[in-house]
Amino acid sequence: MKQFQFEVFDLNKLEEQFGELTEYLNSHERSALLFHIYTGINDEEKILSLRDYLKEKYIGSHIVGCLSNGEIFEGHLTDPEMVVTAWVFETTRVKVKNYALPLDGEEETAKKIIKDSEADDLKGIELLLVKGTAYHYKLLLALEELDESVKIFGGASKGHSMDDEFGCSFSDEGSVIRDAVTVVFYYGSELNIDLQYSLGWQALGHELTVTGLKNKTLEKLDNITATEVYSHYLGIKMDENFFLNVIEFPLILKRDGITLLREPFNETAANGVRMVSDLFEGEKVRIAYADPENIVAETDKACQRTSDFAPEAIMIFSCAARKHFWSYFVNKEMEPFQKLAGCSGFFSGGEIIRIGRKVIEQNVCLVAVGIREGEKKNLPKEEVHVDKSMLHGQLSILRRLATFARATTEELERANEKLREYAIIDELTKVYNRRELERKLIETLYHAVQNETPASFIMLDIDFFKGINDRYGHDTGDIVLRKVAGILKSHAGSLRTPEGDAVVGRFGGEEFIIILPGKNISEAKEVAESIRMDIAEYEFPKKIRVTASLGVTSVNEEDRKRRDSMTISKRVDEALYTAKNDGRNCVRIK
Ligand code: GH3
Ligand code: MG
Ligand code: MG
Repeated sequence: MKQFQFEVFDLNKLEEQFGELTEYLNSHERSALLFHIYTGINDEEKILSLRDYLKEKYIGSHIVGCLSNGEIFEGHLTDPEMVVTAWVFETTRVKVKNYALPLDGEEETAKKIIKDSEADDLKGIELLLVKGTAYHYKLLLALEELDESVKIFGGASKGHSMDDEFGCSFSDEGSVIRDAVTVVFYYGSELNIDLQYSLGWQALGHELTVTGLKNKTLEKLDNITATEVYSHYLGIKMDENFFLNVIEFPLILKRDGITLLREPFNETAANGVRMVSDLFEGEKVRIAYADPENIVAETDKACQRTSDFAPEAIMIFSCAARKHFWSYFVNKEMEPFQKLAGCSGFFSGGEIIRIGRKVIEQNVCLVAVGIREGEKKNLPKEEVHVDKSMLHGQLSILRRLATFARATTEELERANEKLREYAIIDELTKVYNRRELERKLIETLYHAVQNETPASFIMLDIDFFKGINDRYGHDTGDIVLRKVAGILKSHAGSLRTPEGDAVVGRFGGEEFIIILPGKNISEAKEVAESIRMDIAEYEFPKKIRVTASLGVTSVNEEDRKRRDSMTISKRVDEALYTAKNDGRNCVRIK
């Protein structure tokens, strides 16, 4: 296989420019000749005249192409230009075709593609997608039907300007198309395709749930309008620069174990944000930021794997947002790939890659497609890396801020977790506090009513506890409280029922409550008896002995009707009071 790349500036000089290719073809056998045209010039006439020149000059060749946000020629950005890549295959066969993508007709389109792809040695499918008014999730999902060994990759066409949403594509048949997909089928037992990708963006701040989504518009996150979220966290206002400001802060989420980035495109009338690719209600997202060091590390990894594959040529589909982010340094990410093999491709508005069986669309992603015919030849002698010196110059402030953001996010998360814990756990005894107990009591009552199952409650009060404090001091009193809580927890630990696990909490002072889902009154009384005995038999530090009184009650018919947890609390307290009156160190039920 051999690849040639051309930057076309002047349509009148094509003959001269393509001379090298013509010469090569005259003296070499080939199984297929495929041209890719990536154009930053949105001029149908110009595009078609280049296409037609190639079609007439190289009879039997296949041609595909699309409008691009930036053309990649020999591993660097050359926009706005027309870049032509000629793939001269020795054993591979190709087929190209355009498919319409009507709204609600994506599964049909996928079926047609699958039908047309039929051949045992199908190795890969390249999609040049022209986005319309809907997401293309259904198309990609339906393509998962294809055998897992078939590599699927590509990019969504996007115009040269950042706020051009839609592009166009074309093949060697017909005219320039929109709301469509141009497909290249790659066949051949000798053909090997390798897919790698790099993201590198990292989550910032806390998780947000998608609570409002209509078509392509993200309306609400955590029930707050999406534009408000961006303005609150990032200070980004809704003006004509919205897209340029949010582009470096995509949403990040996990779906089927795969990390996805989702790029906001622009704001809409209803304070929603139009998203570049599919997102679903209920999905949990976070805002992501670009950490240059992490991005470079991921690209390095992708490059290393591509290197192990020993490609003869590489296609790159990289996101327009990445181009925007790297700005002056954009070529640095592609340089190491170019050291491995000739790189061509384009900057896109969505990158398509198959991971395992899944076919997904990424945003803010760099996809590297390694192509090789036959065995590995010319394995690179040394490792190739992204040049990291750029991280120390202009990007260094960004890097430090990103580190700062990451450190604060982690601290916040830990603090939040602590806060959640403080809110429900009793500091001294580490069992649930009163507020959480009351919540769990209500929860248990409702569960019992709904499922018509039993549930019981024990209230425990240490006898003459004041005397312990008076004799041994408050600190020793605290130790006894903790020990009693420990005894209760070990009892609860062994009381698991299908209705739920037993729950222990401190109701206040030296009073505890044990909630027993699934237990009827006689079972609960047995539990209470065994707790009472354990406490009475336990030797606390300083050889202290204590006893406790316990009251027990269960959910009764009246509770099921009234669903009032207060009357249960009152009843269990009365049972405890009876136990105290009956001489303490005993269990009473009510
Ligand atoms: P009774 O058998 O009637 O329950 O007698 P009692 O002394 O246990 O009853 P009372 O309710 O009068 O006293 C409870 C004592 O528990 C009073 C208080 O000093 C002590 N106490 C409450 N909270 C704590 C605590 O967090 N630590 C310690 N060490 N003592 C506590
Ligand atoms: Mg007491
Ligand atoms: Mg008390």
